[in-house]
Amino acid sequence: MSVTEMIERKRDGGRFSELDVVWLIGNYTRGEIPDYQMAALLMAIYWQGLDSNELAWWTEAMLHSGDVLDFSAMAQPKVDKHSTGGVGDKVSIPLGPMAAACGVVVPMMSGRGLGHTGGTVDKLESIPGFKTALDPDRFTEIVHRHGIVLAGQSETLVPADRLIYALRDTTGTVPSIPLIASSIMSKKLAEGLDALVLDVKVGSGAFMKDEESARLLAETMVGIGRSHGTRVVALLTAMDQPLGAEVGNANEIAESIAVLKGEGPPDVVEIVYRLAVEMLIAGGITQDPADAMERLAKAVSSGAALEKFGDVIAAQDGDRAVLEDPSRLPQPANSSELTAPRAGVVTRCAALDIGHAAVRLGAGRASKEDHIDPAVGFTIHAKVGDAVGKGDSLASVNWNDRARLETAMELLEQAWEIGDGPAPDSKLVIGEVR
Ligand code: URA
Repeated sequence: MSVTEMIERKRDGGRFSELDVVWLIGNYTRGEIPDYQMAALLMAIYWQGLDSNELAWWTEAMLHSGDVLDFSAMAQPKVDKHSTGGVGDKVSIPLGPMAAACGVVVPMMSGRGLGHTGGTVDKLESIPGFKTALDPDRFTEIVHRHGIVLAGQSETLVPADRLIYALRDTTGTVPSIPLIASSIMSKKLAEGLDALVLDVKVGSGAFMKDEESARLLAETMVGIGRSHGTRVVALLTAMDQPLGAEVGNANEIAESIAVLKGEGPPDVVEIVYRLAVEMLIAGGITQDPADAMERLAKAVSSGAALEKFGDVIAAQDGDRAVLEDPSRLPQPANSSELTAPRAGVVTRCAALDIGHAAVRLGAGRASKEDHIDPAVGFTIHAKVGDAVGKGDSLASVNWNDRARLETAMELLEQAWEIGDGPAPDSKLVIGEVR
C-alpha cells in the first residue's frame, strides 16, 4: 500500500497489515515519507485507533528502528519502572537503587520534564557532575558493574519515536492511547527487559484525568508487553496533589536520599515500596509480597540501597558526597512563604497548579530551549486533610529570580483550598492491571 492508501484506509476505519506497518515506520525513520503524510496518518489513528495486532506491530517496528539493548549475558532479572508523569514524582530515584540492592538489574532510561510534570533526568542532573547522556558502551558497562544505571534516553534507541513524538507534539496527536502506549513501550522494551512495572498516574495533576482512561492506557501497555513476551504490571496511583513535600529538582533529590535513609514522607515511601515489591516479584526474586517488603526494608536499614545510589552517582561522574551532605546540592538564594488566608482543613492542594507554578519559577521548561534552575522549587507543608491556622505556612517557595517568584506565586495561591473539613478520603494506590 502507498502512504496515501494507508491514510485513506485508516481514515475510513480499516486495518493495516504487519507489512504495511513495518514498511511505514522504516521508511519514515529513514526520511523517505514526508511529515505531512505521517501527520495525516497519525490524525487518522487518533480518531480510529489501532487494534491489538496493529498496535503490537507498530510498537515492534518502532522498537526495532534503532539499537536494542541486550543484557541476556547477565543472569539476574532485568526490570525497569516507568511513570506516566506527575508532580513531585521522584519515585524512580530511590526505587532503582532499592531494587538493584535486592538483586534486580535496573537499566533505567528516564525522560525530562514534560509540561507541568517533572522529569527524573532533570532531577538527577542537579547532582553536581552527574551525567545522564551516556553512550551505549558506557551505559552497558555501568549496568554490568553496578546492576543499575540512571540515564537519559539514548539517541540511538527508538529513533522512530523521537521523530513521531516531535510530529505529534505539533499536530494535536499526543493524547491518543495507542500512540502514547506504543511510544512508551517501544522505548522501554528496547532496554532488553525481562519485566516492566508501570506507575500510571490518575487525577487532575496527571495526563490521564480519570480512572477509566488510566485503566485503558494501563491495559493497552500490559497488552503490548504480553504480545512482546515481557511481563508488565501496572499500578494506577493518585496524582491530584503532589507526591511528597518537595517539588523541584535538587530538593527532590534530597527527599529521595531521605527515603533511602529510611526517612521521607509517607506517601512517597508507600509508592516506592509498592512499586519495588512489584519489581522484585516480576523479576522472580521472590513471589511473596511480605518477603519482598522485608528484603527492601533490609536493603534500606543496612545502608545497601544508599550505597548502591552512591555507586551509580560516582559511576556517572556525580558528587557522591551529596548523600552525606545534601547541602552540596544547588541551593536557592531566597525563600518566601505562602501562608493560609484562613484557619481550617486543606481540601485541595492542586498538583496541576503547583506543577505549572514550578515551571514559572524555573524548575521546569516552558519551551524546549529553556534552562532549568536546579535550586528552585517548593517545600509543601500542608496537604489534603491537614488542619492549618490562619497565617500558617502552606509552602516554602525557594527562588532565585524575583520576577519568576511573582508569576509563580499568582498560580500557587490558587492551588490550595481551605474548608471547614473533613477532607474527602483518598487512596494512593487506586488499582492494578496485570
Ligand atoms: N511519554 C512518552 O514517552 N510518549 C508519549 O506519547 C507520552 C508520554
